[in-house]
Amino acid sequence: MTVDQLKQQFQSAFNQQALETYFCPGRVNLIGEHIDYNGGLVMPCAINFGTWMLLAPNEDNVFRFRSVNFEDTYDIGVQDSYEKTGREWYNYPLGVLHHFVVDGKQVKGLDVLYFGNVPIGSGLSSSASIEIATAFAFNQYFKRGYSKLELVKMAKSVENNFIGLSSGIMDQFAVAFGEANKALMLNCDTLEYKAVDAYLGDNVLAVINTNKPRKLAESKYNERVEECAQALKALQQELNISYLCDIDSDTFSRHQHLITDEVVLKRAKHVVEENERVKLAADALAQHNLAEFGRLMYASHQSLQHDYEVSGVELDTAVEYSKTDSNVIGARMTGAGFGGCAIAIVKADAFETYSKNLIDYYTAKIGYAPSVYATNISSGVHELVN
Ligand code: ADP
Ligand code: MG
Repeated sequence: MTVDQLKQQFQSAFNQQALETYFCPGRVNLIGEHIDYNGGLVMPCAINFGTWMLLAPNEDNVFRFRSVNFEDTYDIGVQDSYEKTGREWYNYPLGVLHHFVVDGKQVKGLDVLYFGNVPIGSGLSSSASIEIATAFAFNQYFKRGYSKLELVKMAKSVENNFIGLSSGIMDQFAVAFGEANKALMLNCDTLEYKAVDAYLGDNVLAVINTNKPRKLAESKYNERVEECAQALKALQQELNISYLCDIDSDTFSRHQHLITDEVVLKRAKHVVEENERVKLAADALAQHNLAEFGRLMYASHQSLQHDYEVSGVELDTAVEYSKTDSNVIGARMTGAGFGGCAIAIVKADAFETYSKNLIDYYTAKIGYAPSVYATNISSGVHELVN
């Protein structure tokens, strides 16, 4: 759908023209998975798929939320607090809106239309995309002057406290601060970050959506967060640390006997090693050593598959095929897992062949087809000027 078509949709939904249009991307994480909530280093980047948000004021003191992607609509009066309504999509904008009204400053009714071309519920963070689009747009429209980092923290709080997912800060950070052709080396403890060249040579970043419906993802996610908390508590008997990622694998080896639960031990091992892989991956990228970067991607996947156990036959199949294709430099699952998406670095001129062969291989094994996209690494949330 083009922006002009979206504007027409806005016009027919609200009987007035859209005044402002915003775009917020989705994201992939190149490496550093499930360690943002462990104070680790991650390497996400924003992609050229995301969420558009169009708005215009109304005189009715009502917020009207519509989405091209969902049938249900939501209208709610301007009031001083909002409650989550269930599992409907409009809880995301509602959670953000709450932050803009609790401080008692005046807000005015708005008509709002969303459209996302980023696959929804597939691990590319359409949720962070709609949250940051909304927070950024409201901040601009209501002239609140929050910094981008404050908006990121606000959106994370929506995800954690309003939606109820104990996720880290990576997703909101990536879609807010992303830059074209850069990966963000983000320290999730200090929130220091560096935009580094995402050197891909003559390759493209492929995204493979397994198209597996995600079930149990939220409860499993929260379970992993809890397991990491258990591991940390055990290690804190001897170590003065705030996060699992505060130690390297040598220190971990010396103290791992403190973790008596075998499952929890595997989870912690993944976290500590994945954090080290990110540092190695950053060095490899800086040296344009894509072969090493690819090796680290495969190692990351293996750890997520066997130690962290957040992959699944669908993601494993996508990575397994990629390993056999000589046009692929590296591949891994990205995002929370349990279905969702994998990424692969693929020779640009072989992308079509790769995509076709992967679809055939995957379909034969899984019984339905994945979707494969060639993506560009793009900039974070911004307003579109007419
Ligand atoms: P992911 O972030 O991996 O895409 P989540 O389950 O965290 O998956 O978030 C998906 C949810 O975010 C959707 O079910 C919906 O509630 C909301 N959402 C995302 N994009 C849109 C959109 N374009 N319009 C309306 N709601 C959206
Ligand atoms: Mg999400």
